Amino acid sequence: MRRIYLDYAATTPTHPEVVKAMLPYFANSFGNPSSIYSYGQEARGAVEEARIKVAELIGARSEEIIFTSGGTEADNLALKGVAYANDRKGNHVITTSVEHHAVLEACKFLERSGFKITCLPVDKYGLVDPDAVRKVITNRTVLISVMHASNEVGTIEPVEEIGKIAREAGVYFHTDAVQTVGHIPVNVDKLGVDLLSISAHKLYGPKGVGALYVRKGTKLVSLVHGGEQEKRRRAGTENVPCIVGLGRAMELGGQEMGKEAKRLAHLRDRLIEGVVEKIDRVRLNGHPTRRLPNNVNISVDFVEGESMILNLDLEGICASTGSACSSASLEPSHVLLALGLSPEEAHGSLRFTLGRESTEADTERVLEVLPGIVAKLRAMSPLLKTPR
Ligand code: PLP
Repeated sequence: MRRIYLDYAATTPTHPEVVKAMLPYFANSFGNPSSIYSYGQEARGAVEEARIKVAELIGARSEEIIFTSGGTEADNLALKGVAYANDRKGNHVITTSVEHHAVLEACKFLERSGFKITCLPVDKYGLVDPDAVRKVITNRTVLISVMHASNEVGTIEPVEEIGKIAREAGVYFHTDAVQTVGHIPVNVDKLGVDLLSISAHKLYGPKGVGALYVRKGTKLVSLVHGGEQEKRRRAGTENVPCIVGLGRAMELGGQEMGKEAKRLAHLRDRLIEGVVEKIDRVRLNGHPTRRLPNNVNISVDFVEGESMILNLDLEGICASTGSACSSASLEPSHVLLALGLSPEEAHGSLRFTLGRESTEADTERVLEVLPGIVAKLRAMSPLLKTPR
């Protein structure tokens, strides 16, 4: 059976060009970038070249890039690093109810350490209101963190507008751009952000590596202490092969994103139209137009998301009910609840995220099998008998 992978928001396959770029740094050029002899300097050169590539794609300077172990660490470094470095100025952090757990859990940690967190609600599409951000800023606010686009429902947030508000108020602004970098244009100056998180495995790079952009002059403390790597902002011997992979993935992302985003948006719209046409009592979650080109998130009444996933898997189709991190839990997605869905509606959610290998044949196959799966599950559903 042909396997159809439609869960690119969870992770992406590593691009063959990325693997090719990484391979020499496992064996021939295995030196430690901190060593001053030529082996080390070869590795140092590769790390710095990757830093330039990462910076280039987001309109930053290479010295503003800190390599991390991924998006989670980048988010943690942004949140805790700025909060602790600026605790003399204030103890207030603003975020939103639709952030990834990496941001929300870092906020909870800060709250336990005495910081005050304001978690803003979103509208039914998952959009944060920039005016609401403006209203909750106080002279104690040190950081605003609003994601660029949702990993679950694909909604693209008004980051540019919030950036202007943050700038006027003199408050640092972080965005989690894990789902956008390499997929849609991201420019730190245009967005008006001081910090921005990146994860390689969401853009055809390897897992376990990412980066945090930190605008020059931003006060930040390190969370990992040890050696002097990353200008003392993140200790530990650099993961050279993976950093090289991230650099190459960013480069390829820049080259391919324009064409790819158009292609995927077309497939996305065809899939949304088809699902709504072929299955009754289905709704699209997230914003109808301000959404990632590859994201389809729907709620299907009277059916459990998990049952749909398992049945799709039997047909060779990989999809998801929410973020990869929460899909193992039976809790309804905090993002869907924040959009105002009932727990039952949230449980009936299904996310398809398209990518490089997705074709029209894949989306047609989904449209061929999903109606039958839903009909079968509804026939056995105790939910259907519940008066609504
Ligand atoms: N932020 C967002 C929006 C994500 O989608 C993810 C991954 O699911 C992360 C952060 C965490 O990134 P990583 O898996 O690299 O730790």
